[in-house]
Amino acid sequence: MSVPLRQQIAVGSYLIKQKIKGVKKYPLVLMLEPLFRCNLACAGCGKIDYPDDILDKRLSVKECLDAVDECDAPMVSIPGGEPLIHKEMPQIVEGIIARKKFVYLCTNALLLRKRINDYKPSPYLTFSIHLDGNRDRHDTSVCQEGVFDIAVEAIKLALGKGFRVTVNCTLFQGETPEEVAEFLDYAMELGVEGVTIAPGFSYEHAPRQDVFIKGADVKNLFRNIFKIGKTRKWKLNHSSLYLDFLAGNQNYDCTPWGNPTRNVFGWQKPCYLLADEGNAGSFKELLETTPWEKYGTVKNPKCANCMAHCGYEATAVEDTMAHPIKALLAVLRGPKTEGDMVAEKKPQFAINPKKTTISDIPVKIES
Ligand code: SF4
Ligand code: SF4
Repeated sequence: MSVPLRQQIAVGSYLIKQKIKGVKKYPLVLMLEPLFRCNLACAGCGKIDYPDDILDKRLSVKECLDAVDECDAPMVSIPGGEPLIHKEMPQIVEGIIARKKFVYLCTNALLLRKRINDYKPSPYLTFSIHLDGNRDRHDTSVCQEGVFDIAVEAIKLALGKGFRVTVNCTLFQGETPEEVAEFLDYAMELGVEGVTIAPGFSYEHAPRQDVFIKGADVKNLFRNIFKIGKTRKWKLNHSSLYLDFLAGNQNYDCTPWGNPTRNVFGWQKPCYLLADEGNAGSFKELLETTPWEKYGTVKNPKCANCMAHCGYEATAVEDTMAHPIKALLAVLRGPKTEGDMVAEKKPQFAINPKKTTISDIPVKIES
């Protein structure tokens, strides 16, 4: 576990309070998206396919801090777009830190050197730097040469100034376990606190659909990465059971309310990943009006290939609280990498039902 003890205690106390109060649906990480504008255009991005008037919108400092207060999750992740483009980001971050929430400021790092002095190191602030692999892999993923080197320099700069720094890595088609292992070794050498790693979600709005890894390929890739990891000392920023889930050993339903999303449209239903399901005006309305039962890998074709941490990390945390011995064993042994995977539940929706076309209609030719 790479997270500092102070954060583990704060999050643990929050979870125990929710249990004592009997709260069934509680948030773990607020996903705060104050803008969609970015200075990159990655092949697998589902966030930047908006017209200019939407990309020009910003959540104000007040709107951001109201969302933090309303939802009251112990951790806040600020993805985007590119958050460092937002001129008031330092005030937003300062306000979140003042509330003693742990903030992960996600960035592709292109602007970090220029903006780093707007921030002060704090145990509550982590720069989460986007790096999808080694130099070639990352530059291909973000569709621009030279970005890997800038990101690595930014990581060194932020670490040198005493900031907490993690790496946020998304895996796409064509990755080999050896390549990912080499990248994780390199991230550890850089001295980052931990790496967040997950398969890319097949965003409907992504510029390219052929980049995503799906189904059993994801689980086999993670099993093979973790096999190599048994002799390495990687610090992965996830619960032991989420990693076990990625390796095909847990059959989880997602917990989309665990990472509620506030963006320029409002509170996005049902989660950070699905963009066309409507919005709520408040967090309370989001909880009360989202038809949660419609979502999940077996319930909705849009969810079919989802294994993202914003959907399943909260499930794994719930499972950890319910089955601490199982979770402890997963910590001690690491994810299972041999033997059968758990059987997948059957989808409750039709998979690609074949549409009837004119050529399917039998034609009887009579002389
Ligand atoms: S994935 Fe991140 S860095 Fe890439 S275009 Fe989307 S928001 Fe920008
Ligand atoms: S499975 Fe859950 S987290 Fe994933 S897209 Fe569907 S609702 Fe969102």
